[in-house]
Amino acid sequence: MAVTPEIRKLNKRNTYLYIYKHKECSKQELASSVGQSLPTVNQNVNELQDEGFVRIAGLYESTGGRKPMVLQCTPDARVAAGVQILSGQVTAVLLDLYGTVLSCEILREPYKNEDAYFQKIGKFIADFINAGGYSDDKLLGITLATQGVADYAHKKLVYGRILDNKGLSADRLSACIGRPCILMHDSETAAFAESFHRPDLRDSSYIFLNDYLGSASIINGSLYRGNHGRGQLLEHVKLVQGGRKCYCGQYGCAESYCGAYGLHKMSGLPTDAFFRLLRTRDERTLKIWDEYLDYLALLLHNVLMTMDVDIILGGLLRKYMLPEDLQIITEKIRSQTDFDISDRTITLEYITDYPAARGAALYLVQHFLDNFEI
Ligand SMILES: [Zn+2]
Repeated sequence: MAVTPEIRKLNKRNTYLYIYKHKECSKQELASSVGQSLPTVNQNVNELQDEGFVRIAGLYESTGGRKPMVLQCTPDARVAAGVQILSGQVTAVLLDLYGTVLSCEILREPYKNEDAYFQKIGKFIADFINAGGYSDDKLLGITLATQGVADYAHKKLVYGRILDNKGLSADRLSACIGRPCILMHDSETAAFAESFHRPDLRDSSYIFLNDYLGSASIINGSLYRGNHGRGQLLEHVKLVQGGRKCYCGQYGCAESYCGAYGLHKMSGLPTDAFFRLLRTRDERTLKIWDEYLDYLALLLHNVLMTMDVDIILGGLLRKYMLPEDLQIITEKIRSQTDFDISDRTITLEYITDYPAARGAALYLVQHFLDNFEI
């Protein structure tokens, strides 16, 4: 049967993805695992080497005859930039194809919805990328993650009450950076970082316990975006009828009870001071924490009854949480349901350094891998 150009492309793609997934292998292993003849493997590997995607990283021990070559993917054959924009700072990271952070820089600058601010952060991002020393053809792109909901095409923010950035467009920011960029909700990118680095993750709902509450879901290994790109907005699920006022204008949203600001409203203490007192078993603080966990457990109960998922807790409060807290949350959920939830897991996020910025870059890396075709 004649080998069509489509089959040749598919063979090459499979060759690249096999090496990527297994980190390293020999041509012989490739031939038997991918189901290609040795001459086809040779041709694909040679092309991938010429294009800079694959490299020879030494020799395996001989099992008789010539020592087989160790094939690896070149981690920085392509790089991606992820940027998180918060009210007080901008965090930029440059990642290779395995998600390793090549460089990271933070600009402390109060957010302002005006040109001078966008020009300033645009220059910061451009300088940061230039300092990486990679040519434009190696840069997969730039994703800006922020507190705002982006449209399905990642072109514009359709909701953004926290930073008052509704309507902000990727085009406006691209013009300031001098390179194209896309926009994403930072909870989504943080969830994506977790999913990328934990390929064994089952369907999960990610709860971002930052100053402001955030959420996103990973379904079938992909970020759930829904019909309009809004994905999951658990922060505005109503927990208390007629409760505290939320920044969205409504009352009783989960945001006002389960985010770090929600905890602050209850204790009047900065987060760090609160947890220092809590761990000394201070009675008042223990009571407030128990009340906070009641609200969080109610939210998680609603999630578990809505979707058959595991839960991942991330964000600012994650670093203060102990296994005993997860145990208490589980018990509180269990007391609210007749269903067996022992097969659902509640874990803390794995990626704790700049998850939103890293996930923003990883979204581009995943797109590259999904569409790898040279
Ligand atoms: Zn709300």
